[in-house]
Amino acid sequence: MQIGNRFRCYPTPAQAQVLLQWIGCQRYIYNAKVGEDQYFRSFARKSLTHTGEFAPIDQQYSQFKTELTPWLSEVPSIVLRNGTVLWKQAYSRYFSKLGGRPNFHKKHGKQSVWLTSELFEFTPVVDAETGEITGHQLHIGSKKYPVGFVEFKAHKDYKPPASLHISIHAGHWHISFNYDDKTIEPSDKDTTAWLMQFDAAELREMTVGLDRGVALPLAGSDGQQFDFTPVQDKRLAAQEKHKKRWQKRQSRRTKGSKNWLKAKRKVARYQRYGADVRRDVAHKTSCTLALDQRYKLYVFEALKVKNMTKKAKPKQDEQGRWMRNGAAAKSGLNKAILASTWGQTQVFLQYKARRQGKLVIEVPAHYSSQECAACGHIHKDNRVSQSVFVCQSCQHTDHADHNAGKVIAGRGVKQLLAGKGVKKEKKRCGILRNKVGAVGSEPGAAMHSTLGETEVSRLGGNTPALWSLTQETTARTPSGV
Ligand SMILES: [Zn+2]
Repeated sequence: MQIGNRFRCYPTPAQAQVLLQWIGCQRYIYNAKVGEDQYFRSFARKSLTHTGEFAPIDQQYSQFKTELTPWLSEVPSIVLRNGTVLWKQAYSRYFSKLGGRPNFHKKHGKQSVWLTSELFEFTPVVDAETGEITGHQLHIGSKKYPVGFVEFKAHKDYKPPASLHISIHAGHWHISFNYDDKTIEPSDKDTTAWLMQFDAAELREMTVGLDRGVALPLAGSDGQQFDFTPVQDKRLAAQEKHKKRWQKRQSRRTKGSKNWLKAKRKVARYQRYGADVRRDVAHKTSCTLALDQRYKLYVFEALKVKNMTKKAKPKQDEQGRWMRNGAAAKSGLNKAILASTWGQTQVFLQYKARRQGKLVIEVPAHYSSQECAACGHIHKDNRVSQSVFVCQSCQHTDHADHNAGKVIAGRGVKQLLAGKGVKKEKKRCGILRNKVGAVGSEPGAAMHSTLGETEVSRLGGNTPALWSLTQETTARTPSGV
């Protein structure tokens, strides 16, 4: 299965400068390809019958290296070529209906450069006494364009990959890569089939229902609670305060000025801190759950987080005057929902559970907080307060979140046995899938020809591309080209 890694790395200021230059040039080439394509397509739309040509989807970039762009000659050509490869990959994603057409990469926010094995090397560090490999040194650059050894911190085991991304976001550098660990990932289909051998009572034993809330981010049907630690809460609050202060300062400074930029960077750093803490909590929560030997089935309620965090609608009275609509309260609630990592925890748990041969499913969310887990009685009076649940029919009393967790677990078991366990698997990015054997196994060996050499063409190539073209051209020029 594919294992992804993301490690912090620490380039020196001089190294960072070179890497930033590489990042900028790769983005320039990518955007140049996007611009060229958009230009030719808008031209072809108007007069395809006269010219009959779209711009080809290829990896050419020499046309962008002119007297006006001398800086492109200062970076390795591989960096530039990889820019076009990324663009081509994005295009083939579009043709296989996995995304939109490639769009311009922005100059702000997270930035990264994709390096293939020509430009980096992991050299093993061998312990002199035991002869064991204790880690790796990462060397970046080539003979002509040396960057040197870049320090990085690996917090878990990994294998040296065949290509890697180096990214910077709000002052923090990371390297990220993935490799195939040669084990076969159990599929959700097989896991479902295996789980369906059990009866309802047995299944209930190995199922945990997970209730997501605003006051408590995640509560399990077994009484487990997952929340931020008091220290994290305190720090998040402090960082939020700092962020607001700097946002205010930024808004008062002249846009584009040095001090404005300084404030902008501060805001970005505080924002990133919050995101880091939340991702950390989501990883730890999902890991604890996935490794819990008691459970084979995890049930979430299906929440449309995007819909739930929409802005409050404006309200008008009969005369058409604007009324209070509780926008401030709603935006506070939205913030709380987004800050409680509802989505992230589920996404992480999904892949971690799959690796363990376990299953994550979603059940409808209606009245899960008002239903009694013991007798099934649904009434809004059942929930006495935020945390207390007392059934009005059978007097069953529980913590409200745990009761909801049990209801969700029960629904999950029912749904699984009814054969409606998992949703249809989503199509995934298929760019590297076929070539995956080459990646990771022998770094560097097969890279030159395999990576990025996906067959994409408007005229021929892979079938989805061809199909998409026929659709497009017939729609535009009924007479045919
Ligand atoms: Zn009851």
